[in-house]
Amino acid sequence: MKNGQNVLRIQEHHDCAFVRRVEQQSHQKVSQCYQCGNCTASCAFTDDYDFPVNQIMRLIQLGRKETVLGSRAIWLCGQCQACTVRCPCTIDVARVMATLRVLALENGYVADKNLRRFADEFLRSVSLFGRVFESGLLAVYKLRSGTVLSDMELAPELLKKGKLSFVPHRIGGRREVAALVKRFSSAL
Ligand code: SF4
Ligand code: SF4
Repeated sequence: MKNGQNVLRIQEHHDCAFVRRVEQQSHQKVSQCYQCGNCTASCAFTDDYDFPVNQIMRLIQLGRKETVLGSRAIWLCGQCQACTVRCPCTIDVARVMATLRVLALENGYVADKNLRRFADEFLRSVSLFGRVFESGLLAVYKLRSGTVLSDMELAPELLKKGKLSFVPHRIGGRREVAALVKRFSSAL
């Protein structure tokens, strides 16, 4: 367990309507989760989350709105869908995580400004090029977040494996992708 993981504020207000709000917005039955843990076992980011995804589901059921919307986990989720395909209750867990991000933005909860900054820059890059331009995204993000020198040791290996390109790949349908991003952003 890392520092800061699983620290619950027991005096926190329980918002009984929160589970209904999440269910309505995500169209998923979070209340049916029976804590089997398959989602957490499937998630590649569990070690980096402050609360594993099954605990996020339980916290929603308990109405712990502040803890859930203030968590880092909802911003670190990569939307890989591994949790969704393994949930025995057929809950689209990834969709619930995406919904929580929207609710966090709507309610002014930002666990970490840099996480939000990265999400914004990611969408901007997708909007411009139709898919993410990793080198450009990293350069802008690092400048804006003041983390220019962090993770520099990874660059040579990424370049050697051809994972970082200095030129963006422009795909077809960029205008449609940009319209999708705009629609998503204006819904917030
Ligand atoms: S969608 Fe998110 S929570 Fe689910 S397994 Fe992937 S990274 Fe983890
Ligand atoms: S896999 Fe489904 S039922 Fe199991 S803990 Fe995760 S959300 Fe709950």
